[in-house]
Amino acid sequence: MISFESVQQAALALGRDLTFLEKLWFNYSANIPDYILNCHHVLFLILVYSIVPLPYMFVELWGSKEMEKYKLHPGTKRTFWDMLKCYKNVIVTFVQVAIPLLVFSSPAIKWLGIRTSLPLPSGREIFLHLLVYFLIEDYSHYWLHRFLHTKWGYQYIHHVHHEYSAPIGFAAPYAHWGEALIQGIPPFLGPALVPGHMVTYWLWYAIRVIEAIETHSGYEFPWSPSKFIPFYGGAAYHDYHHSVGGQCHNNFASVFTYCDYIYGTDKGYRCRKSILNKVDGQLHINIGNQTIKSE
Ligand SMILES: [Zn+2]
Ligand SMILES: [Zn+2]
Repeated sequence: MISFESVQQAALALGRDLTFLEKLWFNYSANIPDYILNCHHVLFLILVYSIVPLPYMFVELWGSKEMEKYKLHPGTKRTFWDMLKCYKNVIVTFVQVAIPLLVFSSPAIKWLGIRTSLPLPSGREIFLHLLVYFLIEDYSHYWLHRFLHTKWGYQYIHHVHHEYSAPIGFAAPYAHWGEALIQGIPPFLGPALVPGHMVTYWLWYAIRVIEAIETHSGYEFPWSPSKFIPFYGGAAYHDYHHSVGGQCHNNFASVFTYCDYIYGTDKGYRCRKSILNKVDGQLHINIGNQTIKSE
């Protein structure tokens, strides 16, 4: 809750005029208690999860033949009802796990020092916080994901997420409620250790959900902005993990590739990639030779 009575009072306290975004935040949050504000976080997450997979759904159901070349499993075809079923299952798990967790964690948000008042964080502060959150999440997710691939972890929990050997955007958070609990820790760890503003906290979760939807989308588009992020895994990287299934001991990381590289859990993936590249190269040479011969 904002500690100022009015925009003018906030401007006086800060010694400058409020920016457009600060005025927007003031009008939105000034009269909302922090624990209610934290509950809005759930609504935003549901909104992001409901909207972001839609373009992938349209491409899958009504996309042109041209789009097939970006599809990671050209042979598979999902229906609208498949996707709706997945969406409904995720929302049920979300209501069962995320909502009680968020309600109970609301006092912790204040206690940890995640602030809601003005000023809003600068662009630099947001960037640095997001960077730290990504690194903490990626590392802790890596080890928890490895735990979920132990015999016990896979048999009782993680097999649900792997029901999709050819994943779709809506299946990004599709998991056993136990996994939703366990894998709910890594994204919370960064803001808990390095608390920032509530806006950064929401932005962080939104970006993380968008990233997970992209990596589960089943499509690898060359124009995706994520292609410019150094050490970014992407859809093909995580898709390999799903396509191999329960026996997969490769590509455990959620976002970047460095953990798998350091701990040697990307060898199978890299080996397959180099073989495919060689075969692809050979194919091009053969086609080239055939063209020359036919002339
Ligand atoms: Zn897995
Ligand atoms: Zn996955």
